Amino acid sequence: MEDMRNKRGQILYLVIPCYNEQEVLPETSQRLLEKLQSLMERGTISRESRILFVNDGSKDRTWEMIEELHGENPVFSGVKLSRNRGHQNALLGGLMTAKQYADMVISLDADLQDDIDVIDQFVEKYYEGCEIVYGVRSARDTDTFFKKFTAEGFYKLINLMGGEVVFNHADYRLMSRRALEEMENYQEVNLFLRGIVPMIGFQTGVVTYERHERFAGESKYPLKKMLALAVDGITSLSIKPIRFIVFLGMLIFLCSIAMLAYSLIQHFLGNTSIGWTSLIVSIWAIGGLQLLAIGVIGEYIGKIYLETKKRPRFIIEKVIR
Ligand code: UDP
Ligand code: MG
Repeated sequence: MEDMRNKRGQILYLVIPCYNEQEVLPETSQRLLEKLQSLMERGTISRESRILFVNDGSKDRTWEMIEELHGENPVFSGVKLSRNRGHQNALLGGLMTAKQYADMVISLDADLQDDIDVIDQFVEKYYEGCEIVYGVRSARDTDTFFKKFTAEGFYKLINLMGGEVVFNHADYRLMSRRALEEMENYQEVNLFLRGIVPMIGFQTGVVTYERHERFAGESKYPLKKMLALAVDGITSLSIKPIRFIVFLGMLIFLCSIAMLAYSLIQHFLGNTSIGWTSLIVSIWAIGGLQLLAIGVIGEYIGKIYLETKKRPRFIIEKVIR
């Protein structure tokens, strides 16, 4: 492994999930081909490197176009999913396919919003020994205020909730075959790659770039899908929301004790009507106890949830003996 890394000319796969991308594919494929060829000519990567399109159950001509590209030039290859499974699953399918043939894999979107000129830097970092290289957006100038606010809030919220994500990094990243093999051991069905990859560890690097606007076609990530991704991200990474219920229950239960004192004082001062004291104290106490109980049950469900994921408990980077 170590001595292999020093040798240049290793196999790079670009993995690109595509859902109804017929408008962008002709240009995307040309631009990626040029990039790959220039890397091959300089001897940086092997001639066996490939561009792997993953068709995520597109309803347009995306798959036919991928087949045509493959016919023209074998550097283009394709994976066809049986139906639309969403970006994260399509990406995983592509990564796991590429892992069988490649030494390193870079994942990127079909619309090339992520600057492909930094691919050179990704590869350099790989040769320097990084197993994972994150592409991080330097600026969000092209985003609307709403997109910037929600996207950055999303990263902060996930970190607050105990998930570990790289700020302003989406799914533009390089992974070595070794990192991919370790990722394969994360068997969870509810998949949020951005949260899983940092868990793998190893030597990592960061490459910053500016993100462009989509040059053709429209976004396949409407607000609904974005929200679903955010909820998946948080619930798949952490059980903090459950713990929050426990704290809320405790808080309200404490309030009920305060209310008990307050009501008793009012009662003895004669400021209350009959039945008010017992009523008000029970409402607070029962509410608090219920939340507390739900939270405790949730705590166990959370543990079961994490157990069912069967995540690897450790990954060994190196053994010296
Ligand atoms: N995508 C996919 N399956 C889906 C939705 C999107 O494979 O169900 C792909 C899409 O083709 C693109 C990438 O995911 O390559 C990112 O989508 P998009 O560029 O539309 O998202 P945005 O950049 O607007 O967040
Ligand atoms: Mg896009």
